[in-house]
Amino acid sequence: MDIRISGTVNDSIVDGPGIRYVIFTQGCPHHCPGCHNPQTHEMSGGEITDTQAIIEEFRKNPLLDGITLSGGEPFCQPQPLCEIAEAAVSYGLNIVTYTGYTFEQLLEKSESDIFIPKLLLLTDLLIDGRFVKEQKTLDEAFKGSANQRILDCKKSFEQRIAIEWEEEYF
Ligand code: SF4
Repeated sequence: MDIRISGTVNDSIVDGPGIRYVIFTQGCPHHCPGCHNPQTHEMSGGEITDTQAIIEEFRKNPLLDGITLSGGEPFCQPQPLCEIAEAAVSYGLNIVTYTGYTFEQLLEKSESDIFIPKLLLLTDLLIDGRFVKEQKTLDEAFKGSANQRILDCKKSFEQRIAIEWEEEYF
């Protein structure tokens, strides 16, 4: 299946706990002032690749703890990301997803696209909310600004309320 990406990184240690394969999706509707990845905003930019090519690439890396879906806005392309996340889970990898939407907004959007709830149920950690320049933080691991939350995504989705991750990371 086609997916439009800005790029991938095979061994990140800054986009979630442990060693991670990161997919930077292309296309973002949020346009947060001060965004660090402005090249990912254009919906028709980046490159189109195949989900299977991405899956084959991370499958070959034995050091990974998980994959991270970042952007851009991952929830603009939930269907191909579900395919990728399902494969990752089948290889024992965990899933971290970044989004400029809030969890509550994604719950609302879940009504109109079945792949949004599916991706939420595949995600372990959801880092939600737009980047707010005035609240920029360098002290809080994995967050860009203090307004963002690190949510236990499965528990949050099951209970339909945002629940912050409180345990040790996997
Ligand atoms: S949601 Fe992320 S990628 Fe999109 S504009 Fe905001 S910081 Fe940039």
